[in-house]
Amino acid sequence: MIRINENYTKLKASYLFSDIAKRVSAYAQANPSKPVIRLGIGDVTEPLPQVCIDALHAGTDEMSKRATFKGYGPEQGYAFLREAIAQNDYAARGCRIEADEIFVSDGSKCDCGNIQEIFATDGLRLAIPDPVYPVYVDTNVMAGRTGGVVNGRYEGITYLESTPANGYVPSVPSVPTDLIYLCFPNNPTGAVATRGQLAAWVAYARANKAIILFDSAYEAYIRDPRIPHSIYEIEGAREVAIEFRSFSKTAGFTGTRCAYTVVPKDLQAFDHAGKSHSVHALWNRRHTTKFNGVSYPVQKAAAAIFTDAGKQQVKAMTDFYLANAALIRTAMLKLGFSCVGGDNAPYIWINTGRDSWEFFDLLLNQAQVVCTPGAGFGKCGEGHVRISAFNSRENVETALSRIAAALKA
Ligand SMILES: *Cc1c(COP(=O)(O)O)cnc(C)c1O
Repeated sequence: MIRINENYTKLKASYLFSDIAKRVSAYAQANPSKPVIRLGIGDVTEPLPQVCIDALHAGTDEMSKRATFKGYGPEQGYAFLREAIAQNDYAARGCRIEADEIFVSDGSKCDCGNIQEIFATDGLRLAIPDPVYPVYVDTNVMAGRTGGVVNGRYEGITYLESTPANGYVPSVPSVPTDLIYLCFPNNPTGAVATRGQLAAWVAYARANKAIILFDSAYEAYIRDPRIPHSIYEIEGAREVAIEFRSFSKTAGFTGTRCAYTVVPKDLQAFDHAGKSHSVHALWNRRHTTKFNGVSYPVQKAAAAIFTDAGKQQVKAMTDFYLANAALIRTAMLKLGFSCVGGDNAPYIWINTGRDSWEFFDLLLNQAQVVCTPGAGFGKCGEGHVRISAFNSRENVETALSRIAAALKA
């Protein structure tokens, strides 16, 4: 008799985006004359930068001729892309990361989800933020590292609470943990961590022989020069951190698919007898066994963003979304809400002072604007909503004037 992985039965059904869709379609049906503006979803709206489009065309042309056709490439990514990443995303910021420490993939969601496979399933102590990008929690539930749900939270996880009191940046826990998930600039809050805050995490990980999984999918939105773009800007992080980056939010690749994971060769993890092992070697084994590389034209397109023209186009695109974010942030502050994010991130996290679904319904019914209720991202998200800057300027401006009118009424 075929049996299932019963850890899957522990997963909390994620109704967040389907609940939102249901409420929005019910409203739209009842009010066909009132168009709804969606500022809820974390997906980009602008087309690919021109350098990427040109590179995709050129890559396709190469695939069309026998002389330049390419079959399987290196599983870890072509050297031209890994070297461009090492040079532009790391060396240029003073971080010592070699090209062969970079593993190119088809997405950070998969990388963040898959990485836990190389660590123990029994007895590993997890530290995971609340509110959170759900991938970190759910993949550990699937692997059997948690118990069931008690009071809305999984047993066996140390929740790192992001609250108004700590400025939405959790400090290190008072208990030791082994595998720590951090995401800055944060989804859903848009909060960023200072150098000092990240240094405290690196010191904590070193003291506990733990590993930090650092998701910096929104790094391209950082504008404050004091904020680190990479965990490797912190002294000693090479021995305790893995970093995930994606071209999705940087260059509009959500539908094109390219990302990478950095696993420094200095990073060690231990077996049951306390003997140390290279995490780079483990991840290389896992990656090459289960993954066959990103398509050649897509890697060409990703490499194109590191050209001078590519850098300008990426800057223009992220500046555009950040200008939307600034409009949203300013408008919400003016309406008297406290909020975080929107200055170094495309999300604004608004402290609504009431139930997050109630506020969602208010914006939908009175302003025809869709946001994301914070409660869907975890217990600490209650009382908050996330508004996304991924939309056209016109839609953002219309949405904000409708919100202002609805809340003043
Ligand atoms: C969008 C996003 C990613 C990137 O996912 P891809 O699979 O590369 O598209 C990673 N982490 C967070 C927190 C995100 O919001």
